[in-house]
Amino acid sequence: MRLADVLSLVEGWYPPHRADDWDRVGLVCGDPDAQVRRILLAVDPVLAVAGEAVALDADLLLVHHPLYLRGTSSVAATTPKGRVVHQLLTHGCALYSAHTNADAPAGGVSEAIAQALGLEEVRPLEADPVEPRDKLVFFVPVADAERVRSAVTEAGAGAIGYYDSASFTSPGEGRFRPLVGANPAIGRVGDLEVVDEVRVEVLVERRVRGRVLAALLAAHPYEEPAYDVVPLAALDDPSRGSGRIGVLAEPMTLRAFAQEAATVFPRTAGGLRVAGDPDAVVRTVALCGGAGDFLLERALAAGADVYVTSDLRHHPASEVRERDDLALVDVAHAAAESLWLPVLRDRLVTALDDTVEVHVSTVNTDPWTFRV
Ligand SMILES: [Zn+2]
Repeated sequence: MRLADVLSLVEGWYPPHRADDWDRVGLVCGDPDAQVRRILLAVDPVLAVAGEAVALDADLLLVHHPLYLRGTSSVAATTPKGRVVHQLLTHGCALYSAHTNADAPAGGVSEAIAQALGLEEVRPLEADPVEPRDKLVFFVPVADAERVRSAVTEAGAGAIGYYDSASFTSPGEGRFRPLVGANPAIGRVGDLEVVDEVRVEVLVERRVRGRVLAALLAAHPYEEPAYDVVPLAALDDPSRGSGRIGVLAEPMTLRAFAQEAATVFPRTAGGLRVAGDPDAVVRTVALCGGAGDFLLERALAAGADVYVTSDLRHHPASEVRERDDLALVDVAHAAAESLWLPVLRDRLVTALDDTVEVHVSTVNTDPWTFRV
C-alpha cells in the first residue's frame, strides 16, 4: 500500500487541519509514493524509537509528538533530531506525527485513556464546537441543475460525516428583467422573464467556501447567479473535544482507583502521584492526555471526583486542593498517551486488512528513569 493511502486513512480519522495553530503535524520525512508494509506506532520520535523502527524494518514510524515543534533550519546528523531524520531516511522509513489533531476526536488519545480506565457514559470534558460551516443556497434553471450541483459537491460542498454529495433540491420560478448592458443566458434585454428553476441547499465547511463559490460561479449558466451564504451556529460537537469525563461502573475509594489505574498505564519509574484523601469515594472521573493543567477548572465545574492527567504543576494543583475535594492523579505523560497506540493499531489493522503489519513500540520514552 502507498504511504499516501495509509496517511489519507489516518487523516480522515485525525484531520490535520483540526490541530492547534501552534502545532506541527503531518509528514516529517518520506515519499508519499513509497510502499508501506510495516508500521511502528510510538509516542515520541526519539533516537531509541527510530532505532526500533529500523530494527523492525518499518516503512512508517507514526508518532504522537512532533519531531520539530519549533521549526529548524537543519536536519544535519549533528543533533539528536537530525540523527533521527538520517536514521529513518537511510533505512527508507517515513516519519509522521498526529498530535493535537489526535487528542480531541473519537478514537483519539483522551478517549483511549477513558476506555482503558473502564469509564462509562464518556463525553468530552470540554466539547469542541462543530467545524465552522455555512449553508449555501443557490437557484439554477432545471436543465442546468445536475451539472451545477455536481460542480459544487465536487469542490467539497455537501460533505456530512461519512457522506458526500448531500444536498436538497426544490422547484420554483425564477423572475428577472435583463437591463441594457446585460448579456443574458436566457431572455432578452427589456423583457421580464420567468424560468423554471430549482433551489439547491447544501452544507459547506467554511474552509472550502472559496473553492465551492468559485465552482458555483464557473458552472452556473447565468451572468448574475443568485445565491446566499448563511453562517450556521457553532454548536458543540458531542463526539470531540478536550479531555473526557465519565463514571466508574462502581464507586470506589481513591486508593483503590489509583491502584487500579496504576495497572492500566505502562509502568514508569515515577509511578502515579495522587493528591486527596485515600479513603474518599470516587465515581465521576475526568481526564486529559498530556499536560492537563488547562482543564482543572473544567473538571471542577463538571463535578468530577478525581482528575487524571500529566505534568500537573505545583501552583495549579495546590490551589485546586485548597478550595475543593477534587482529587488529582498525575501520571507520566508518555505512559498516559501510549494508551492511544493500541487503539490506533486496531483501527489500522481493521482498515488495512492483512496488507500492512502494525506494531506498537515497546520503548519506554518517559524521561524519568529512577527515584530515590
Ligand atoms: Zn503529549
